[in-house]
Amino acid sequence: MTTQATIAVAGDHADTPIELLAVNLADPTGHEVLISVKVTALCHSQLHHLASTRKRRLVLGHEATGTVEMIGPEVSTLSVGDTVLVTWVPKDEEQANRAARPASVELADGSVAVSPNVYTWGTHVVADEMYVLPLPEGIDLDAASLLGCAVITGAGAVVNTAEVQPGQSVAVIGAGGVGLCAIAAAANVGASPIIVVDLVDEKLDMARAFGATHTVNASNVEDPIAEVLALTPGIGLDFARQPVAGADYVFDCIGKPATVTQALQMARAGRYTLRRGGMAIVVGVPTSALSLPPGPLLTGERTLIGSIGGSCSPSRDIPIFIEWWKGGSLDLDRLVTTRYPLERVNDAVADLKAGRIEGRALLEVPS
Ligand SMILES: [Zn+2]
Repeated sequence: MTTQATIAVAGDHADTPIELLAVNLADPTGHEVLISVKVTALCHSQLHHLASTRKRRLVLGHEATGTVEMIGPEVSTLSVGDTVLVTWVPKDEEQANRAARPASVELADGSVAVSPNVYTWGTHVVADEMYVLPLPEGIDLDAASLLGCAVITGAGAVVNTAEVQPGQSVAVIGAGGVGLCAIAAAANVGASPIIVVDLVDEKLDMARAFGATHTVNASNVEDPIAEVLALTPGIGLDFARQPVAGADYVFDCIGKPATVTQALQMARAGRYTLRRGGMAIVVGVPTSALSLPPGPLLTGERTLIGSIGGSCSPSRDIPIFIEWWKGGSLDLDRLVTTRYPLERVNDAVADLKAGRIEGRALLEVPS
């Protein structure tokens, strides 16, 4: 048996337009499930995938909600009819330790389009159960689709990777979908101040709504690093006999070499023999080699650390983020700022690339 589906497929070399192709998806085998997609979201990492050098066609997308239509014989954590979300992070340790094949879709011409983990830009998808979580009854499936990447990546970086504590100072570079989730998480754990740096006033307005206490428009100031240091005065003198200043944690949700460097310089210096320096956390996806100033790293005893998927265990963490959402302290509904029907996927990608999307954009599958 097969299921007729329409899947977004990118060509076998960089920056080719996405085609929506009719395919016949084979029934799920092993730990796979077949899901009818309701809504899926766009993430900046898909722009990196689309621009990548490659030899095979790609299937895309890694956060979605939908309904389980069919399950493979070895599936133990999901049932037909379950309302689910799809993520790209294995949902728990047991599932993470199980080998899984890359996702692949056989196209009508006999070629195969692939993804290393999941794909969600389509009317139906087949996914390994390790990437699929059941959702509680009555949840809004549009905003819930963002739990699969934006929320775990941004909020998880704050609560898991950095383990920010009440009263600690936080700066966030980049107030897109992931950055807004980091800001909300910082507010939820009681961080203060929460300083947000972006280039767009509208994004900074959103940042304040998500919990930022201070905002810096980096296009309007001479030196955004100096702005953050002025807002985070510390105690005593650093190794270079300069007054200590800077945030305890700086989350770079952009990932460009320049912003990673800024993040390191916005983090608090350590105090020689007394206190280690602050931490810069790389959350956005760097696509080129980083070149860092050695002084802040060495004499400031700062820490530079990466965060992938917010160091999340989705089965453990997503219920916490759903509680924040239900309690009003993580406004996922507001995070959805733009919607496109699936057939307009190329317009959606163009808008994302041009920076025209403030929070997160959704692709809606016609029912
Ligand atoms: Zn993503």
